[in-house]
Amino acid sequence: MIYLDYQATTPLAPEVAAAMRLWTEEKFANPHSPSREGREAAAAIEVAREQVQQAIGLGGGSLAFTGSATEAINWAIKGTLEKSLPGRNRIVTVATEHAAVLDTCEWLGKRGVEVTCLPVGSDGLLSLDTLKAALNDRVALVAVMLVNNEIGVIQPVEEAARIAQAAGALMLCDAVQGLGRIEIPEGPDLVGVSAHKIYGPKGIGALWMRKGAEPAPLIHGGGQEQGLRSGTLSPALCTGFGVAAKLASTQFEQDREHVEALWNAIMPELDGWIVNGSTDLRYRGNLNIRRENIDAARLIGDLRDIAFSLGSACASGSGRPSHVLRAIGLSDREARSSIRLGFGRYTSKAELVGAIRRINEAAEAQERFAA
Ligand code: PLP
Repeated sequence: MIYLDYQATTPLAPEVAAAMRLWTEEKFANPHSPSREGREAAAAIEVAREQVQQAIGLGGGSLAFTGSATEAINWAIKGTLEKSLPGRNRIVTVATEHAAVLDTCEWLGKRGVEVTCLPVGSDGLLSLDTLKAALNDRVALVAVMLVNNEIGVIQPVEEAARIAQAAGALMLCDAVQGLGRIEIPEGPDLVGVSAHKIYGPKGIGALWMRKGAEPAPLIHGGGQEQGLRSGTLSPALCTGFGVAAKLASTQFEQDREHVEALWNAIMPELDGWIVNGSTDLRYRGNLNIRRENIDAARLIGDLRDIAFSLGSACASGSGRPSHVLRAIGLSDREARSSIRLGFGRYTSKAELVGAIRRINEAAEAQERFAA
């Protein structure tokens, strides 16, 4: 199988699997217990916390582990609104955000919070003037993602944070697809990340919080994670996340150059395809492309040994065209003719080029059949 779905999830790095083994096969202490073994597990978690914070690269804040980035984002949004001053009851976000943001905002919208969802241009980018015009002194939170999971475009997060904070709002950045791929810019007050997008394990995410911007707790219980997020932490998952984050830091340049080389290798093979979203302001391990009149779902069905996806993993299977492709102005038909190829650390040039050639042949076969 050729795996080209790196936005959905990444393979577990062998270094991560090796580091987790100690905590799955040998040691089992509760990291919140005062026993020697418990303190050893707690110490391993603190090493991991430091490694994830270093990979995020923002100074002066703290980090709490969560069960996923979805949880981190739910917590950031709901907990910020809960803590905000009485007159600040508005959230401003963007039409192309992940469902973790949009659905949480919609849920709050049904409970009296005012939600403004800003449009993007045909390149998928948020205009800072549009953001500025949307802000007033009722906004508690602005949520703008770093790298879009469907089309890979990079939003102007640093500038957006400055604008949000000038209006007295906090800024949340969903950096799930950015961590380890591009630098996370200074500015956000809250940053959500996930281990399984950086070659770490599934089932663990984290929220980075600038001092003073900690949201009210979402999950109540034993008071773990500085009293902000209750629940026993898994030393295995935290260690896995930590080692994955350390690799993301130490291999950052190598990974970036590798993805750049893959992008350059695939470009000459794209005759007949149009890239969805900006080609410049984009993480290049995400190639979302469309081809007139092809049925992308059929293409995936025809090529079962190549793992790639429709425009969005979330839209896949639901029959609904992707909200992101719609937001950049594509018709339903164009969205249904779009595929996403995601590649990264373990993709070779030969398999990527081989895969796109086979995708091209299958697309041409569809075109011949339709003619
Ligand atoms: N945000 C973005 C941009 C994502 O791509 C994803 C995962 O698909 C998430 C949030 C949710 O992450 P998790 O799987 O850790 O809940």
